[in-house]
Amino acid sequence: MIDLHMHSDCSDGTMTPAELVEQAGLLGLDAIALTDHDTVEGISEFMDAGLESGMNTIPGVEISIDTKLPNNGHFHLLGLFIDPNSQALKSKLDFLREERNKRAAKIIDALNTLGVSVTIDELLSEAGEGSIGRPHVAKILLRNGAVRSIQEAFDIYLAKGKPAYVDKTKFGEKEALGLVKNAGGLAVLAHPHLMGYSDSLELKERILQIVELGLDGLETYYPSMPPPLASELQEFARSYDLAVSGGSDFHGENKPGIKMGTGSGGLRIAKEVYYDLRDRAALKRKSGAG
Ligand code: AMP
Ligand code: ZN
Ligand code: FE
Ligand code: FE
Repeated sequence: MIDLHMHSDCSDGTMTPAELVEQAGLLGLDAIALTDHDTVEGISEFMDAGLESGMNTIPGVEISIDTKLPNNGHFHLLGLFIDPNSQALKSKLDFLREERNKRAAKIIDALNTLGVSVTIDELLSEAGEGSIGRPHVAKILLRNGAVRSIQEAFDIYLAKGKPAYVDKTKFGEKEALGLVKNAGGLAVLAHPHLMGYSDSLELKERILQIVELGLDGLETYYPSMPPPLASELQEFARSYDLAVSGGSDFHGENKPGIKMGTGSGGLRIAKEVYYDLRDRAALKRKSGAG
């Protein structure tokens, strides 16, 4: 069994990269990928821990894409087998990190204006080395007694449309695909069922536009993916020679219902999925270098 989508405390997960590797070992997983939001900070620790323990660790990233989608859908792009030392990738992700810091200051301003006291220092210490996100703000609101749960922090203040919501800077799909591919990675569309399309034909048409830009694969194994859609997308992937991937989107204590490897209970991803992705990535790099 494998799990190719998870977050560490370098973004909005709660475990360190090394702890993720240790946990995967305890669960007997065959391969895992670290896919933190908009950062590769955790990758070197993750890869070192993999080498030490013999776990197959895949360097990854999850990039939010700026695009208009129906029903408040979102487009997240996974980069798998990326070179975390790619200068282009690093400098673009550093830019996003700075943008996130500016956004954090705006969120704090909005909260203070609403009479909720939060300081930038609290937020910086909550995020630690990681890049700042709304879950960090939510945790502080909970700790300070401004809300009764993380969910309430989103429902009252932080969710889109709520008074302390601030948009974040994102890359366009062309730019993000270019970044992943320049860094030697496979570009995989994360959780396609969350893009907001209620009609799978429309979803597939949209996916084909992304394939035109170089998309390599689809994440078809995911806890909340409806099984009929998963089958349909696997068939679709086969007919366009797209790779398939999958993972739990584990966030540790930040999403307590989601377990590494098994997701909300029924997820089982065969290690052959990893072998195929690994072979495709190796092939890409070979043809890119030659
Ligand atoms: P950010 O990248 O700072 O916009 O934060 C995104 C993260 O916030 C997501 O990965 C979720 O963990 C969390 N999140 C976003 N919207 C909600 C919501 N409506 N309810 C609960 N958590 C949310
Ligand atoms: Zn997340
Ligand atoms: Fe995502
Ligand atoms: Fe994720």
